[in-house]
Amino acid sequence: MFMAVESTLPTPVRTPASDKDAKALQFIEEMTKNVDSVQERVLREILSRNAEAEYLKRFSLNGATDRETFKSRIPVVTYEDIQPEIQRIANGDKSPIFSAHPISEFLTSSGTSAGERKLMPTIHEELDRRQLLYSLLMPVMNLYVPGLDKGKGLYFLFVKAETNTPGGLLARPVLTSYYNSDHFKTRPYDPFNVYTSPNEAILCVDSFQSMYAQMLCGLIMRDEVLRVGAVFASGLLRAIHFLQNNWKQLAHDIATGTLNPKITDAPVRECMRKILKPNPELAQFVTMECYEENWEFIIKRIWPRTKYLDVIVTGAMAQYIPTLEYYSGGLPMACTMYASSECYFGLNLNPMCKPSEVTYTIMPNMAYFEFLPHGSSTSCLVDLADVEVGKEYELILTTYAGLCRYRVGDILRVTGFHNAAPQFRFIRRKNVLLSIESDKTDEAELQNAIENASLLLKEFNTSVVEYTSYADTKQIPGHYVIYWELLVKDSANAPTDDVLNRCCLQMEESLNSVYRQSRVADNSIGPLEIRVVENGTFEELMDYAISRGASINQYKVPRCVSFTPIMELLNSRVVSKHFSPDLPHWTPERRR
Ligand code: AMP
Repeated sequence: MFMAVESTLPTPVRTPASDKDAKALQFIEEMTKNVDSVQERVLREILSRNAEAEYLKRFSLNGATDRETFKSRIPVVTYEDIQPEIQRIANGDKSPIFSAHPISEFLTSSGTSAGERKLMPTIHEELDRRQLLYSLLMPVMNLYVPGLDKGKGLYFLFVKAETNTPGGLLARPVLTSYYNSDHFKTRPYDPFNVYTSPNEAILCVDSFQSMYAQMLCGLIMRDEVLRVGAVFASGLLRAIHFLQNNWKQLAHDIATGTLNPKITDAPVRECMRKILKPNPELAQFVTMECYEENWEFIIKRIWPRTKYLDVIVTGAMAQYIPTLEYYSGGLPMACTMYASSECYFGLNLNPMCKPSEVTYTIMPNMAYFEFLPHGSSTSCLVDLADVEVGKEYELILTTYAGLCRYRVGDILRVTGFHNAAPQFRFIRRKNVLLSIESDKTDEAELQNAIENASLLLKEFNTSVVEYTSYADTKQIPGHYVIYWELLVKDSANAPTDDVLNRCCLQMEESLNSVYRQSRVADNSIGPLEIRVVENGTFEELMDYAISRGASINQYKVPRCVSFTPIMELLNSRVVSKHFSPDLPHWTPERRR
């Protein structure tokens, strides 16, 4: 039976596409109408099942499961606060430290601590919770975009390298864990969720081979593709870039029905053998579209039935919107969900809205959520049902896996409500200066990298007097640009080109493991660039800021810039440009 949900979901265009969709939509309605009682239940469940865990006992919760006691006894923490316990679990301590349930694996967050990915403990049943959130996405989308069961989704999905902790637990990114789970691998057939990419291609750890096979399938099935996507906008742009670099070989494979010998992964080869048949007509089409190197609207040209792009373009990904528009010819961009390694939070109930209007509705059954009004002390936390429209908050999380009042680091603004559930705009991640894709570089990391690199200038009696940075995403892959103003004490012995190139590499060696992995394993970040600017440039920058009303006493050099007039000023003063000549070191193994 179809549910009459039109009255409550935001401007839907049609009724649910199936009984299954109707049930999912009804579930969303129930959750969003009863936010506070669901949150109360979730906290009770978490606290009662973990009552005997060391962490809750340490704070003398004594079995209490009510909010008041919880809030008065349990401190708000950061990753660094709980790192000793995390390390014990990583080292093999199997006692119930955070959770009564065994820790099934660690999810490696793209947030870092001391240069390494953060390890988030998880429990097996969290997979069901993630699956539940995924199962709500298409029912909502089907309300806005009809006919998605009449074709396929071309999604570029990837797994990354896995490692084992000293105690033998797996440590891998949350999506790698999900794609390797039976929830994904043996998912039942759903006509609304058919992918062009075979599991074998998605699960191939080699990023080139995985991308190659996925692109090849996307081209072979081009007439069936109704939506094109990746998790983040940067991933989809990487795929377009891949097509630009590899279309000749791809067209050759399609023409001859033979697979590029660089694809050596046995399961990928075996599944491609079944899909790939000689198709000279299609090969000619691909060649025609690509050989002039005109990439405008390429997505629409190659996949003409595409109704929308499914990619996250909120937060740090907003920088990619203009490039995606160029390639897609103005296709709508749907940001469907908001999630992290710690917990999947919620979904966008109006997925076809403009990127600037995206809001996420947090599902109260996923975890217990609290909100710290931005800039306030940790004693003023507010519950999910009590946040106020227009205010900004930092998200605090208590999970079934045992994280208690954990600061995620995301800043969200409340824009309205769906039933009793607040809807949030993602504002930014705290302390992130530079980001190209999943990398997040903060001010301290950048400063440290500059200090390490400038050691190479010592023998030239030269120092870095000022610096700033910029995430250049105009080209794919994007790269970090660092502007340096140098003090060269002996112009006869100025640093050579070679040394400045090596400074670029030295900076990269000093950046965190997510950055280096993106450089080395994923090729999703290009070589770091140093642009040396004329002496006096940073003073001009200050003059400019003061002319726009900054206080001379409080002026601080911005450590990251993106405002066009400032960029123009800096770029007009560049005297030399230098690029990292090599890849930095990276292995999947953690340094600690
Ligand atoms: P990770 O821990 O590596 O899974 O990264 C999770 C983080 O990615 C979140 O805490 C957010 O900062 C960011 N993120 C996830 N989903 C979105 C989204 N829809 N929009 C903006 N940022 C997001």
